Amino acid sequence: MSPSNKSAPHWDVVVIGGGNAALCAALTAAEGGARVIVLESAPQTWRGGNSVHTRNIRCMHDAPQDVLTEAYPEEEFWQDLLKVTAGKTTESLARLVIRESATCRQWMRQHGVHFQPSLSGTLHLSRTNAFFMGGGKALMNAYYRSAERLGVTVRYDTAIDRLEFDGARFLAACSGSERFEGRTCVLACGGFESTLAWQREAWGQNQWGEWTADNFRIRGTRFNMGVMLRHLIDQGADAIGDPTQAHCVAIDARAPLFDGGISTRVDCVSLGIMVNSDAKRFYDEGEDFWPKRYAIWGRLVAAQRGQIGYAIIDAKAIGRFMPAVFTPEKADTLAELASQLSLDPETLVSTVDAFNASCREGRFDHAVLDDCHTEGLEPPKTHWARPIDTPPFFGYALRPGITFTYLGVKVDAEAAVHFAGEPSPNLFAAGEIMAGNVLGQGYTAGVGMTIGTIFGRIAGAQALLASQQFERATDVIA
Ligand SMILES: Cc1cc2nc3c(=O)[nH]c(=O)nc-3n(C[C@H](O)[C@H](O)[C@H](O)COP(=O)(O)OP(=O)(O)OC[C@H]3O[C@@H](n4cnc5c(N)ncnc54)[C@H](O)[C@@H]3O)c2cc1C
Repeated sequence: MSPSNKSAPHWDVVVIGGGNAALCAALTAAEGGARVIVLESAPQTWRGGNSVHTRNIRCMHDAPQDVLTEAYPEEEFWQDLLKVTAGKTTESLARLVIRESATCRQWMRQHGVHFQPSLSGTLHLSRTNAFFMGGGKALMNAYYRSAERLGVTVRYDTAIDRLEFDGARFLAACSGSERFEGRTCVLACGGFESTLAWQREAWGQNQWGEWTADNFRIRGTRFNMGVMLRHLIDQGADAIGDPTQAHCVAIDARAPLFDGGISTRVDCVSLGIMVNSDAKRFYDEGEDFWPKRYAIWGRLVAAQRGQIGYAIIDAKAIGRFMPAVFTPEKADTLAELASQLSLDPETLVSTVDAFNASCREGRFDHAVLDDCHTEGLEPPKTHWARPIDTPPFFGYALRPGITFTYLGVKVDAEAAVHFAGEPSPNLFAAGEIMAGNVLGQGYTAGVGMTIGTIFGRIAGAQALLASQQFERATDVIA
């Protein structure tokens, strides 16, 4: 159906999703005068998707700026991204996100977001990441309040299950028998992490015949089911990314299946050692600063038998990391600790003995890449290696915690969704559903919110423009 033979749709911009990217798009379009509806699958109490769990946003800056210390220039941000993604990124889009991150905080403030200096216990982030006062929940509440002031309509409990198209042109979003016609649409409905069957299919079985994804926990919302992502791919939208790539951290094995959030993350890995269910080490715990490495540990644990790992520390580590919500197992001897964790005591003791014997202690400093390292040990521990010899000893059982998946739809610098290499004139995407354009693999802390904020604003601005063009086109026809 073309615009010429149909009455004008009621909505200028239909936004699907209710997290950070969705609200950034909705606010931007509404600021320009657009009639905007936000369709959120969650009930009001659970609105805001994964964004409510966040704490900070990564921003470039050439000099100290409000809560950010020193400088974090474009080139350094880009090199950080290049390193963690191992080149699986689109440089033009990544640089666009980086550059825009320099100015987005001012806009965020205008919509009621407050910032605070980096939290103590959050290592190495005061220079690069601006923390939200009250966390992501306060940020989302501020955005919803601002949306209300700007006249944005919000519908909760509205899970969109399909879109109607005329070729690559969006016509309407549907939830069961309900239709929401719009001149334009912004898709900001997250990844597919909460559809465990899709994860199972993507990850398959490992060498022990186990279905790897069966032991995953989802750190965020249960509402990111990937229904729109699957639908778009089925409708011929160009996909980007690998379905097994995700932000995946090691979290407490006692975490709930969904929405455990930040408090289930265990941040002591670099202060001790990590062993698998055979009580053997399997990776360098001191490879780099924790914010640059925490997102690889979920994947490393996923590759172990039973998808479980155990972080072992001693009394020296206590007070040096943000405590998790669950208390660790605690014992006066390593053998006792092993029994409590259902590990073989003899093997754990011998693993720790070998580790302790290989430690070449220098000047321990967890705030720099220090010279405490192992010698003659495989795998090595490159930094912060100190003997685990001071009781009491502590251990956490850890599982892979999926934060968000990277498979998404391909977009361009206007956030337009592509079909067979061509941009849709009125369908845009922002946030996790397109994060794979920038993040092919790996992660650097705070960049999820940077991508969602910048692309949310771009998508909102482009949707506004496209709806104005639609209006002009229908005026001419009329
Ligand atoms: C525990 C945790 C901590 C994190 N901490 C940080 C951090 O400090 N900094 C950072 O940068 N990133 C962090 N992230 C990642 C960050 O949350 C995401 O990158 C970001 O929130 C993505 O925003 P989004 O709007 O794309 O998705 P979301 O915020 O997840 O929003 C997606 C929305 O779409 C809705 N939805 C899904 N399907 C449909 C449908 N079919 N119809 C209608 N609505 C639908 C959902 O209900 C949800 O509201 C964290 C994530 C988690 C889980």
